[in-house]
Amino acid sequence: MENESVSRNFIEQIIEKDLAEGRCEAVKTRFPPEPNGYLHIGHAKSILLNYGLAKKYGGEFHFRFDDTNPTKEKTEFVESIKDDVRWLGADWGDNLFYASDYFDRMYEAAVTLIKKGKAYVSDLSAEEIRKYRGTLTEPGEKDPGADRSVEENLLLFAAMKNGEFEDGSKVLRARIDMSSSNINMRDPVLYRVAHLTHHNTGDKWCIYPMYDFAHPIEDAIEGITHSICTLEFEDHRPLYDWVVTELGYRNSTEGTPKQIEFAKLYLTNVVTGKRYIKKLVEEKIVDGWDDPRLVSIAALRRRGYTPESIQNFVELCGVSKANSSVDYAMLEYCIREDLKLKRKRMMAVLDPVRVVIDNYPAGQTEQLTVDNNLENPEMGQRQVPFTRELYIEREDFMEEPPKKYFRMFPGNEVRLMNAYFVTCTGCEKDENGKVTVIHCTYDPESRGGNSPDGRKVKGTIHWVSAEHGKKVTVRLYENLINEELGVYNEDGSLNLNPDSLTVLTDCVVEPELLEAKAYESFQFVRKGFFCADCKDSMPGQPVFNRIVSMKSSFRLPV
Ligand code: ATP
Ligand code: MG
Repeated sequence: MENESVSRNFIEQIIEKDLAEGRCEAVKTRFPPEPNGYLHIGHAKSILLNYGLAKKYGGEFHFRFDDTNPTKEKTEFVESIKDDVRWLGADWGDNLFYASDYFDRMYEAAVTLIKKGKAYVSDLSAEEIRKYRGTLTEPGEKDPGADRSVEENLLLFAAMKNGEFEDGSKVLRARIDMSSSNINMRDPVLYRVAHLTHHNTGDKWCIYPMYDFAHPIEDAIEGITHSICTLEFEDHRPLYDWVVTELGYRNSTEGTPKQIEFAKLYLTNVVTGKRYIKKLVEEKIVDGWDDPRLVSIAALRRRGYTPESIQNFVELCGVSKANSSVDYAMLEYCIREDLKLKRKRMMAVLDPVRVVIDNYPAGQTEQLTVDNNLENPEMGQRQVPFTRELYIEREDFMEEPPKKYFRMFPGNEVRLMNAYFVTCTGCEKDENGKVTVIHCTYDPESRGGNSPDGRKVKGTIHWVSAEHGKKVTVRLYENLINEELGVYNEDGSLNLNPDSLTVLTDCVVEPELLEAKAYESFQFVRKGFFCADCKDSMPGQPVFNRIVSMKSSFRLPV
C-alpha cells in the first residue's frame, strides 16, 4: 500500500503539473449534487476530495446545485444537502451556486452553436433518435433535421423556448459526427422541450439543457479548473471538451475547465443506490432516510459518526481509477479511533440482572471517583454512586461456568470496575430457572478496585447502582443486508437481515447519562460507543443508538 503522507494521488499530480506549467493560476474545484435525494457516504468522498484539493492548493471550493432536470428535484433535498455538506466540514464560503441561475447563458450558448452551424433542431422522437444513433459496431444515420439552415434553426429554437412545441416533439442536437466511434459524440441532444415547473425558475422555461451540455458551461462560467467526476463520465469527456472548445472557453482568462474521473466509493454489502433506499423507506423497513442502519450522511450523523471519522475514512480509501469496494469494518475502525480518546467511558448495563452485596450496609451510598477516560486524563473525573444492590450484565454471571470463564460464578472473586472486589456466594432463580438475584460479599479493603494484599482477580465487570441507575432504551444495529447471501436476490430484491435492529428497553445506566443531548455520544465500557438519538430522545429520557461495538476484526493494511 502507498504511504498516504508522501505519495500524491493521481489527481494531485495532474493539478501540480497544471500549476507548474501555467495551465491554471489557482485551483478551483466544485461539488455539483443533483438535488434529487439525500447524500450518502459516496458523495462524502466527492465533497471531501474536492474541498480538500481546493484547500491544499490554496484555491476555491464551489458548491453548486446541478438543478437542470426539474422532474426529479425538490427543495427539500436542497436543504438536506446543504446541512450535510456543512456538517462534513466543507466550507464553501460565498461560493454557493445553482446551475439554474445560468439558464439564460446556456440558452445564449446554444444560440452561439446554432450560429456557428454546430447545432440544429431535430424533429425525431426519443425513440427515433435512439434508432438513428447506431451501435458500437455500426455508425449512426443522419438526422433529417441536420440539413436545416442556420436561420431556420434559430427560428425553431426560439419557438421551442416560446412554448410552441409539445414535450418530446423537438430537441436541439449538436452537429458533431454520426459515425464517431464514441456514441456520445453522435450528435448528442443539447436541449429538450419539457413543460415543467422548476424549483428555482418556476415556469420561465419550457426547454431544459441536458447534463452533458450544461455541466461544462457551469464549470466554465465559474472558472472551475478541475472538474472532478466519477468514472461513468469518462466516455463523455470528449463531449465536455467539445462544448468547452466550441463555446470559446478554451484558454479563456479563467483557465480551461478540465474533467478528471475517479472511481466511485462502494461499501461491501451496503446499499447506497437511491432507488433501493427509497424502497426501504417507502416499505417502512427503515425509519426514514436517516435510519441509523443506512449510509446516507444524515443516517451516519444520526448514528453518531463524526465528520472527523468520515474524513479519515475517505482519506484511507484513497483515490483511484479502478472500481472496488471497501469493507464497512473500515468505517467502524475510523469512528472507534476517533472517539476512543474523546468520549467519556460510562457504565451502562444493557441486559441487567440484580446483584446484592450481602455484607454491604443497606441504605448506604458511596460516591466513587472515576476517571472519565483512563487514556486521556484531561477528560477529568466524575462521581459514580455505589450501593448494596447493583445491576450487572446477565452474561457476566454463570452458575456453571465453562473453562476460561473469568467473570462472576459461585466461589469466584472478581473486580467491580472502579469499586471493590466481590466474591459470589450464590444465586436465586425463578420457576423457569432464570437467575433473578446474585449474591456476593465484598472486601472493604479493596476500595477503588485493588486489594491491599496484592491478590489478583482475572475478571473485571461493570455495574450500575440499582438505587441510582436509570432505565433507558438502547438500540443495537447490524448490517441491513444478510451478508452471507450478498446484497441482491436473483429477482433483484434485497437480501435483508431480519436481525438488523434490536431494541433493548430495560437497560440501566449511570444517572449522568440521562442528561445526554441529541447527537451526544459516549463509550459504554465493554459495550461500544453509543449516541443519543436525535429523533426519539426526550428531555431527561434519551434513547441510545449503538454506533459501533468495541470489538473489531478490522486491521489497517500495512
Ligand atoms: P447516486 O446515483 O448514488 O445518487 P449521483 O452520481 O447520481 O449518485 P449526484 O448528485 O449526481 O449523484 O452526484 C454528485 C457528485 O457526487 C458527482 O460528482 C458524483 O460523481 C459524486 N458521486 C456520486 N456517487 C459517488 C460515489 N459512490 N463515490 C464518489 N463520488 C460519488
Ligand atoms: Mg444523479
